Amino acid sequence: MKHVKMDLKVCEGCGGLWIRNGREAGVYCRYCVVILAEFPAPRAKRATGRRRRSPQAQEKGGAR
Ligand SMILES: [Zn+2]
Repeated sequence: MKHVKMDLKVCEGCGGLWIRNGREAGVYCRYCVVILAEFPAPRAKRATGRRRRSPQAQEKGGAR
């Protein structure tokens, strides 16, 4: 059974609505995908970063 599932997604890059078909995975619209593809991968993925207590993170967060 070939069923094409379409999802209406909100782009995390530009906040615009876009339609994702089920085979694709991603949170960015096609425009942002192209833009992001030209940039190096961001280091925003810190899945377990919050659990660790690193003094550097506290410095960066700032007391104020
Ligand atoms: Zn976008």
